[in-house]
Amino acid sequence: MTSGGFRRILARKTIGRRNLSIVPIEDQLFGVSEEQSAIRESFRNFFESELTQKRCREIDETDSFPEYREFWLKCGEQGVLGTLSAEEFGGTGMGLFETSLMLEELSRISGGVYMGIFAHTCLSSYVIERNGTAEQKAKFLPGLVSGQTIGALAMSEPGSGSDVMSMRCQAVKEAGKDYYVVNGTKFWITNGPICDTLVLYARTDPTSKGSKSITAFAIDVRELEGFTATPIPGKMGVRGSYTGELHFDNVKIPASAVLGAEGKGAAVLMKGLNVERLTGAAGAVGYMQAACDCAFPYAHERKQFGVPIGEFQMMQSKMAEMYAQLSATRAYLYALLKAADKDQKTLTNHDCAAVLMYGAEQATKVSLEAIQILGGNGYTNAYPAERIMRDCKIGEIGAGTTEVRKLILGRHFNALYKNN
Ligand SMILES: Cc1cc2nc3c(=O)[nH]c(=O)nc-3n(C[C@H](O)[C@H](O)[C@H](O)COP(=O)(O)OP(=O)(O)OC[C@H]3O[C@@H](n4cnc5c(N)ncnc54)[C@H](O)[C@@H]3O)c2cc1C
Repeated sequence: MTSGGFRRILARKTIGRRNLSIVPIEDQLFGVSEEQSAIRESFRNFFESELTQKRCREIDETDSFPEYREFWLKCGEQGVLGTLSAEEFGGTGMGLFETSLMLEELSRISGGVYMGIFAHTCLSSYVIERNGTAEQKAKFLPGLVSGQTIGALAMSEPGSGSDVMSMRCQAVKEAGKDYYVVNGTKFWITNGPICDTLVLYARTDPTSKGSKSITAFAIDVRELEGFTATPIPGKMGVRGSYTGELHFDNVKIPASAVLGAEGKGAAVLMKGLNVERLTGAAGAVGYMQAACDCAFPYAHERKQFGVPIGEFQMMQSKMAEMYAQLSATRAYLYALLKAADKDQKTLTNHDCAAVLMYGAEQATKVSLEAIQILGGNGYTNAYPAERIMRDCKIGEIGAGTTEVRKLILGRHFNALYKNN
């Protein structure tokens, strides 16, 4: 995090004012500095002015966001896309903490838009920033940070989800050639149908099934022949984010596209997944905050039996639990983020898995309780509660499912006590 980064974000013009009735966030209690609080506010004001409640409903209903290019460019101007990138590429290099505050404020407003920005910043740009050569960074990051280009990351395949290391997409380089030939299909790729820059994982030794034959690449898909991307319609949530199936049919990609080294892609993938899980938990916090923002004021306005329903103990019990679930996730996440910004080596597989496992499960519970507090209104799209529930469910599936996260924790404890 650089103080220059802070100043540049705060100096950017923010439009609009908070117009929602919200549940206060005690930033000081959670160790958020005044400067970081102001950054949160600045992002929030920007997202609120660009994504009105009416607009978010339309994005969800139509499962499309036609102005995405224009929005991405505005995000670039506002510093949304560069929080993890160095200043030499136009970023602010602020760090994971501020990135997560930004993501929290975005998922709080629109799950669909959040999903696209999340994949762009924390999957695509971040992996290039951490693993790219000077040339690769200079080629890809300025466009990604300014919003001129859109990023995606492709690891999953139709037959390779939780067991991601079984991927079959192959990139083969013949001796003496300076390019790889890619064949295969990637599935469920966020921003896939609209991306310009793609982080691709593929098997560079198709005769091997192990993780040692996986290589990461950074490619500009606009330069490719034989590459096609088709949208996957019908998602229950994060609608308006463009999810796609990517096809590679004898696609030539330059040897200079390798990220890290040939055969070392599994390490790039696992480290990237840690940050995806960590910052993904910020999405869960935003969803929970949104569910509370929607349900708590409602409980104090809606009257039955002559009193606000918030005065009934069973409603109070729900709000008490929702608040504690939100606060516990926030505290756990912020502690990990602060440690990671001091030293990324503190990021462990098990804590990154645990914070998303916990946060995503709590988000599903909190959003369901928000619906219950709203009664019939919660069951309609007149209020955002049902959308929040559909949106936040992806947190239990993407970046390795809840079950896979539990496997990671189980393996960690088995290893820890192995010699006892
Ligand atoms: C909207 C959306 C966006 C996505 N975006 C991206 C993206 O940008 N890039 C990308 O690469 N991928 C992306 N994904 C893919 C996502 O990471 C996978 O969906 C996820 O890893 C699960 O894989 P799967 O869907 O194949 O489920 P499966 O692996 O088939 O799992 C099905 C069920 O079996 C369970 N299961 C599997 N193995 C075990 C086990 N060993 N023990 C216990 N239970 C198990 C799972 O937990 C799950 O409940 C996205 C998915 C969605 C839905």
